Amino acid sequence: MKNFIIFGPPGAGKGSQAVILSKKYNLKHISTGDILRDEIKNRTKLGLKVKSLIDEGVLVSDHIILEIIESVIKHSKGYSGFLFDGFPRTENQFTQLKRMLEKLGHRVDAVISLVVEEEVLIKRMLSRAQIEGREDDANPIVVKKRIETYREQTEPLIDIFTKRGNYFTLTGNDTIENNFKKICNIIDNLETK
Ligand code: AMP
Repeated sequence: MKNFIIFGPPGAGKGSQAVILSKKYNLKHISTGDILRDEIKNRTKLGLKVKSLIDEGVLVSDHIILEIIESVIKHSKGYSGFLFDGFPRTENQFTQLKRMLEKLGHRVDAVISLVVEEEVLIKRMLSRAQIEGREDDANPIVVKKRIETYREQTEPLIDIFTKRGNYFTLTGNDTIENNFKKICNIIDNLETK
């Protein structure tokens, strides 16, 4: 089993890569953002609880996120690994993820990080709002807040990933196809180790 994290700020293109990578490598794609948006769409208790936080561009509590992750991991069968997208976003989330995987005899095999300048992120999110109708992408103030939240609470993880090794950075400015090829290369070379 191989487990990966696709990492980067909002709008970096993590989701696009995650969809094609999970298909190619039979990975269970776990996007915490997608799961939370589904909860909101279905008007569940959890959805109602997290809606205002997502609308503001701030993080949902670690406790809620970790419960979701634990449950998805537990109920996923038949995959060759997990691909975490938009998770972990805090140091505690990463620590708990490692604990959960260790219990199953697994680990995070690699972290693939997409690096994109802020201007490009903002433009992308505002245009994605029109295509996908995501409310948290449509408002420039919320978009800025999400980037700020990333810088403050999520970016410090890079230090931890770097020290751990198997941390790969790519420019998210490249085309989806080029980055996909580069990530496949990383994964394929890991597998031969
Ligand atoms: P995303 O689609 O990954 O950009 O996530 C959309 C929103 O969902 C974020 O702005 C957060 O409010 C919330 N969210 C998604 N994943 C997490 C996470 N791992 N930890 C905390 N909040 C999250």
